[in-house]
Amino acid sequence: MKALFYDEQKGHEGIKTGDLPAPEITDTEVLVRVKAFSLNHLDVWVMGGNYPVKVPLPHIFGSDSAGIVEQVGSQVKHVNVGDGVIVFPGLSCGHCEKCLRGRDNECNSFTLIGTGVDGASAEFVKAPGINIFKKPEGLTFEEAAGIGITYTTAWNSLVLRAGIGQGDTVVVHGASSGAGSALIQVAKLFHGKIITTVGDDWKIEKAHELGADFIVNHKKEDLGQAVKRITKGELADIAVDHVGAATFNTSLSCLKRGGRLVTFGATTGDELPLSLRYVFGKNITIHGVYVGPRAAFARLLGLFPKHLRTVVDSVFEFQDVRKAYEKLLSRQFFGKIVVKV
Ligand SMILES: [Zn+2]
Repeated sequence: MKALFYDEQKGHEGIKTGDLPAPEITDTEVLVRVKAFSLNHLDVWVMGGNYPVKVPLPHIFGSDSAGIVEQVGSQVKHVNVGDGVIVFPGLSCGHCEKCLRGRDNECNSFTLIGTGVDGASAEFVKAPGINIFKKPEGLTFEEAAGIGITYTTAWNSLVLRAGIGQGDTVVVHGASSGAGSALIQVAKLFHGKIITTVGDDWKIEKAHELGADFIVNHKKEDLGQAVKRITKGELADIAVDHVGAATFNTSLSCLKRGGRLVTFGATTGDELPLSLRYVFGKNITIHGVYVGPRAAFARLLGLFPKHLRTVVDSVFEFQDVRKAYEKLLSRQFFGKIVVKV
């Protein structure tokens, strides 16, 4: 089959096109003909060897995909050949306590399609039957391919971990990132007061359209000061920080006593000075989040396309995948970047 892959972890410039054997499925797996896959920032870290995960080489990347069922294992009963489906990338053992409690992203063997095993940047991808979900009606394959990691992480962060309440004030960094655009929409489902940031003024209107109430250009105003001003000194209940070292302490300063800080991703670095006195003095809870459980994905999928939508920034052709990653790294986009297969 035709595939995009890399055989050294040297970043997106090392991506090659070639023919690799199509995956073979077992009785409990499904083979999907990929129609589209979306980019995640995680791909860049893994491609560059900057992520503590063992990657088989040569490696087919791409964690989030949607396509058409090509072949079904004899024990899989919920989908048929020809169905339009989404492949959820989280893999786990299925029988440990964490898995049985529906916290499969905390399973000792948890990994992602596209990192720990071959991914979807190819004509075909395989996955266990329990990772195959019917594509909601009314979604294109491009939109469906953008949901997986991004929306599951957003749902897990706000709903399952931070326990968002009706009307909470929520600070979301980077409205234009895939994560930002998902977090704003999920927070809006709870009628939250959403304060978000952009680094370019052209993104302000798009952030408003998604449901953000206050948009701060972080290049023009300090976020901590802005949150103080907007909330009249009350500060925020939740801050979600996927930027890392550059913003973590600012995120802490945005929180009221008893506030919750969620962290995933660290595009600006993952080490920083931290005032512990500040954390315990304000009764702050810090939640580290890595993707989310299958159950979260199943739950939020039912909200598409009426209550949640994938913001697709752009769709690239298969052979232009490097340009797609260049766009991701340029930050000049809003939403998800998708590649057609
Ligand atoms: Zn397990």
